[in-house]
Amino acid sequence: MRKILFTLIVFVAAAGIVCAQPKGGKGGGNQAQAIKQVKPGLYLITGAGGNSTIRVTGEGIILVDGKLPAEGNYDKLMELIKSVSNQPIKYMFLTHHHQDHTGNDDKFLALGIPLIAHENLKSNLVTYAATPKPAPPSVTYSKDYTVKLGGVTVEAHHYGPAHTSGDTVVYFPDLKVVALSDELGVGTPPGSRAPLADYAGGGSLVQWPAALDAALKLDWDLAIPGNDDPQPRSYVQSYRDNIAKFVDRAKAAVKMGVPKDQLMAAIKTEDLPFKINLQPAALDGFYDELSKTK
Ligand SMILES: [Zn+2]
Repeated sequence: MRKILFTLIVFVAAAGIVCAQPKGGKGGGNQAQAIKQVKPGLYLITGAGGNSTIRVTGEGIILVDGKLPAEGNYDKLMELIKSVSNQPIKYMFLTHHHQDHTGNDDKFLALGIPLIAHENLKSNLVTYAATPKPAPPSVTYSKDYTVKLGGVTVEAHHYGPAHTSGDTVVYFPDLKVVALSDELGVGTPPGSRAPLADYAGGGSLVQWPAALDAALKLDWDLAIPGNDDPQPRSYVQSYRDNIAKFVDRAKAAVKMGVPKDQLMAAIKTEDLPFKINLQPAALDGFYDELSKTK
C-alpha cells in the first residue's frame, strides 16, 4: 500500500512537470483518451495530455485544447469527437501554450479551423523549449473574446497571469460551466495537485488567487480543470483559498527578511492539501514577485 501511494505521488508530481516543461509525448497525462458528458451538449475528453472540452451546437463544434503532439493522439481525439457528433469543428480555443494542450495545433490549422488564444500565448511560444514546438494560434485577443455558433455563446476571458501569462478561461454561460484548465489542479486525492506557476512562461502564484476570484464571479456550477474531473464551486473556492494562504505566508516570510534559499522551509504547509517546493528558476520568479508586492 505504501509503495502504491508513493508511486501515485511520483506520478502526480511528474504530471505537473509535463505540463510546465514538457519533455515530449512521454510521462504523466499520457493515459488513454476517454470521453464523458459533462452536461447535455458539453463533453470532456481526458487522457493524452490535458483535458479537451467539446461544445456541440447545431452548426458545428467548438473545441478547447488538443492534446499532446502525436498523430495517434490527434486521430483518437477526432474519433471520440465523432462518436458524439458528426458536426465539423468550427472554432478552437487554446487555454495556454503547454504542449499537452497545444500539441496538435498544426493539424487543426491545416483543417482551416481558427485557433483562438490570448496574445501572451503567442509570445510565450517564441521562447518555449518544446519539441516539436506547437504551431502559433491564428487569432489572438487581449481581454475577452466571444464566439457565437448555432445559437450558442462561448466566451474566452483572460484574468491575468496564474499558470502562465497567457491563460484563457473558457465560459459556457448557457450551461453554467467554466473550463479553468491548469488554473485549477485536482489530483489524487482531490486538492493534492499543487498550483504550478510556469515562471518562464510568465506564470504567477501571487496573482493566481485574483484570477480565480474573477472566474468565480461568473455564473457557473461546474469547473473543468486541466486534468481530472469537473469540480463544484466550493472546490474552486477552497483551491483558491489554499493558494492565497501559501502566498500570504510567503509574503510575510519575505517581509521578515527570510532569504530566498530558506523561503520554502519557512512557509508552513501542514494544513494545506498540496506540497509546493519550488526549484531554483521558479523560486527566483516567486521571490521576485513577493519582494515587489510587499
Ligand atoms: Zn499547463
